[in-house]
Order: sequence, then C-alpha cells, then structure tokens
Amino acid sequence: MLNILMYHKINFDNKKESNPHYLSISNFEKQMKILTDKNVVIAEDNKKCKIDTKYYSITFDDGAKSDYTIAFKILKKYNLRASFYIITSRIDSEGYLSKEEIIEMHKSGMKIGSHTHTHAKLSLITEDMIYQELNESKKILEDILGEAITSISVPGGFYNNKVVTIAKQIGYETILTSDFGFNSPNETVLKRNTVKEYMNFDRVLNNNLYIKIYGFRYSFLNMIKKFLGNGQYENLKQIIKKIKL
Ligand SMILES: [Zn+2]
Repeated sequence: MLNILMYHKINFDNKKESNPHYLSISNFEKQMKILTDKNVVIAEDNKKCKIDTKYYSITFDDGAKSDYTIAFKILKKYNLRASFYIITSRIDSEGYLSKEEIIEMHKSGMKIGSHTHTHAKLSLITEDMIYQELNESKKILEDILGEAITSISVPGGFYNNKVVTIAKQIGYETILTSDFGFNSPNETVLKRNTVKEYMNFDRVLNNNLYIKIYGFRYSFLNMIKKFLGNGQYENLKQIIKKIKL
C-alpha cells in the first residue's frame, strides 16, 4: 500500500503569506527525518510496490521557489527522492522555479511532472481546453528535460473521467489527485494525503481512520461545492467564517 504525501510551499514561518497548506521549515525537516526510516519511493513507481508492504511518497504541487531553496536541500540531506509537479506558465517567474533549477533537481534524481500550464480547474473547462492544458505543459517540460513526461497532478483536485481519458490519450501514465486515501500497485489515478502544518504527522503516516475522516470531510465539502457551484460555495465559506461561536 502506498501513502502519497502532498506538500506545497515550505514557508509557514513567513507570516505575511500564511496558509495552512504551507509548512514551516522546521516541521518539514522533522517530517523528512522521520521518513528516512521508512520505505520511501517515487509516487510514479507505484506499480513496483508490494500490496502487503507500507510505502510512502513525497510530492510537491505548483513548482514554488521553496521547492528548490528549501525542500530540495533538505531532501538531499536525508537522501530522499520526491516528485515535483510544475505549473509551466509560471516557470522563471517570481516565486517559482527557474528552468535551471528544474534541470538541477531532475539531474539529482527528483521526478518532474506536470501541474497543467495555467493551474486550470480541469473538470470545469471544455475538452479542448483540457487537451491544451495537458499537452502544452507536457511539451514545455519535455523540451526542458529532454525526456518523456508521464505524470500529472490535477490542480485543486478538480478532475473527472473526461480529464483522465484525455490525460491517458496524451501519454500520461500516472494521474495524481487530492482525494485522500491509500493506493494499490495497479492504480493509475492516485490518491494523495495533504500534509498541513497543524496535522499530526504520525497519524497522517499510520492512522487509516484519521485519513478516512479527512477523506470524508473532503468529499463532503466537494459535494457541497458541486451542488452550490464554486462562487456560492466561496460565499458560504465567508459567511461561516463570520459566525463566531
Ligand atoms: Zn496547485
């Protein structure tokens, strides 16, 4: 069984940019140290995992600068490999990875995949646009790295069967979502468990019930989102925030 951990920016220490998805450097390093005792594999190597053994993968979405300046340095220190999914329209722009950094990380054994071209919510756009987002980002990364790009993580967890079919047609072999849970070796659409600053890391790693509860909460919120539409959902969130209990 494979437990794929999902990270974003590592800079929770920066109060101006605080976001529950961003981890502090010290917390991130502590977590990587814990992982050195475990079976850590690249998420894309899911097929090679045995069903009765516990494996873990480290993944990063967006291609933020801290992937290189913080995460990459810590991963190298602990001899760990991870996968990085890049928003290709943001390469070389402020706060994001440069071409040279992507090349260096790839050369050191890090896996690089697509996170679409513009961070589009794939299940909400037309088939032509999905094709464009998936194909353009694949080509850009292949030009930079000179090898086939075969994995993609879907922005915001927005995907459906159409997205999966188009991704496979274009040549993606692994599709990473934001659905909580664990993966068996034969799966190509993979679940990932997001790691937030305040979460109990030991539970994220080992407690199936903890992951199930998060998964249930995530699907429940998604159901409300679908029912209300994204705009209405954001409004509702703002109203709930204002209610002080
Ligand atoms: Zn993203």
